[in-house]
Amino acid sequence: MKRLMTMGKCRFCDGIFSKAAMTRHLNSCAKRQTLAETATGQKTRLFHLVVQGRYLPEYWMHIEVVANAKLKTLDRFLRFIWLECCLHLSAFTIEGQRYVSEVDGVSLFGFGVEEKNMNFKIGSVLRTGVSFIHEYDFGTTTELALIVVSERVGEPLNKSIQIMARNEPPQLICSVCGKIATQVCTQCIYEGKGWLCDKCASIHKCGEEMLLPVVNSPRVGMCGYTGE
Ligand SMILES: [Zn+2]
Ligand SMILES: [Zn+2]
Ligand SMILES: [Zn+2]
Ligand SMILES: [Zn+2]
Repeated sequence: MKRLMTMGKCRFCDGIFSKAAMTRHLNSCAKRQTLAETATGQKTRLFHLVVQGRYLPEYWMHIEVVANAKLKTLDRFLRFIWLECCLHLSAFTIEGQRYVSEVDGVSLFGFGVEEKNMNFKIGSVLRTGVSFIHEYDFGTTTELALIVVSERVGEPLNKSIQIMARNEPPQLICSVCGKIATQVCTQCIYEGKGWLCDKCASIHKCGEEMLLPVVNSPRVGMCGYTGE
């Protein structure tokens, strides 16, 4: 299926922009600036991150993360918003180092490579310009690509992670009749044609148990993912 780039909405002013234009917008958004200027609380180091589906870039978010937050907090956030279906393992790969969930010690030797846990502060492993990868579920993997766009010192608007902008749901078209798809067949999706409207879903050959709802996430149609 041909995929179109999605527009997204600024959470401060409701302005609609493309993913790339959003970086520029957030730097000049009047509503965001007012919030930052009237902030009176404790200032801290903050990172502006863009996260998107590595192979499905129409799903994206701009987020602001407190540098003191740990990788596991970012992992938990990504799971909550976009990923969690059945508590699979996950990992960040940052500059060649893997940080894996559910690892007890500081390191474990998987495939002869040293892996660390996610108890590292974001500010100690990231800096402006660094791109990195997040994988969720090492079977039916959903891969996310992240980049640190910039950093600043200011008052966080949320405890550790603030969504500043997010893509609007892409309009997916029923592979059979061309209406808006509401469900996806977890089997046919691998042939790129599992998108179904309610009517076509009710008579789909693979059966109801193979269907998942269409949700605004790069994990749509994977494993048992049903949304936020
Ligand atoms: Zn705005
Ligand atoms: Zn699952
Ligand atoms: Zn249809
Ligand atoms: Zn099917």
